[in-house]
Amino acid sequence: LAKAHGRGNYQFFTAELNRKAMRHLMLDTRLRKALEQEELQVFYQPQVNPSNGRIVGMEALVRWPYSPTEFISPAEFIPVAEEMGLIVPLGEWVLRTACIQTKIWQDAGLNLRVAVNLSAQQFRQQNLLEKIMMILSETGLSPDYLELELTESTFLEGAEAAISLMNKIKKLGINLSLDDFGTGYSSLSYLKRFPLDNLKIAQEFVRDLTTDPCDVAIAEAIISLARRLGLKIIAEGVETQEHLTFFQTHHCDLVQGYLFSRPLPALEFTELLKKNSS
Ligand code: C2E
Ligand code: MG
Ligand code: MG
Ligand code: MG
Repeated sequence: LAKAHGRGNYQFFTAELNRKAMRHLMLDTRLRKALEQEELQVFYQPQVNPSNGRIVGMEALVRWPYSPTEFISPAEFIPVAEEMGLIVPLGEWVLRTACIQTKIWQDAGLNLRVAVNLSAQQFRQQNLLEKIMMILSETGLSPDYLELELTESTFLEGAEAAISLMNKIKKLGINLSLDDFGTGYSSLSYLKRFPLDNLKIAQEFVRDLTTDPCDVAIAEAIISLARRLGLKIIAEGVETQEHLTFFQTHHCDLVQGYLFSRPLPALEFTELLKKNSS
């Protein structure tokens, strides 16, 4: 019986692996094509000052309209892009697109900061600094309107090199944020050693803030730690009025989440901005 059971499991397991591998391969092929043919899109989610509700910036989030009815989540295709070496051109395309759009809003009198996610692999490419400078000069966006979001996984290899690159990026006038703080390979020494400007409290600690005292403790500890270290605090995943009240009470610098808006295409984001500023 055990043997039959074991064998059955084995078959199930290979079928599952096979299915995953097939999907991976399929995604890789189609993602390459999507990137070449400029089928990807950048959506924007507002970052709001919790004390007055004003939109002060936005996070750029890539979208892949896979079919007329289906978007594939970046949570699925970013890891594929990372594995297939596509993340570098993809990330560069997102950065350029976000800078172009932010400059368009600026020229229309809307001064907003844009935050762009940078994967660990992008961060490790040799000519990152030159590429960023080139994109800024091509698009005419001033560096102080650009923010780059890094995750803790970026710091796993070669801390010294990472710190030195971060300092060079900051010298350009670009701000750096640590994304999803507390979920990765968190080490408090990162906060001390790395030249960061902002800390983004991971959604994971925000979700159950109103029901789970542990999450309250964690969120409060992160906020007070960040404040003592001179970092600005951005809360992500703010979905309810209760979440907002918590971050208002704790004088969080910025909030981001479905309570204000889901990530939107540029055109709809423009409409949201008009409403927000009137
Ligand atoms: P992230 O950088 O932490 O982005 C925040 C994610 O939370 C986004 O998911 C956003 O849509 C979602 N979100 C925002 N507000 C709420 C909320 O109130 N509730 C909930 N439940 N979710 C909320 P998205 O767009 O699916 O992106 C997932 C992840 O994929 C991002 O997490 C980021 O790690 C990665 N990603 C997205 N775009 C890019 C990109 O251009 N480059 C790179 N390297 N990674 C990206
Ligand atoms: Mg992010
Ligand atoms: Mg995040
Ligand atoms: Mg994330």
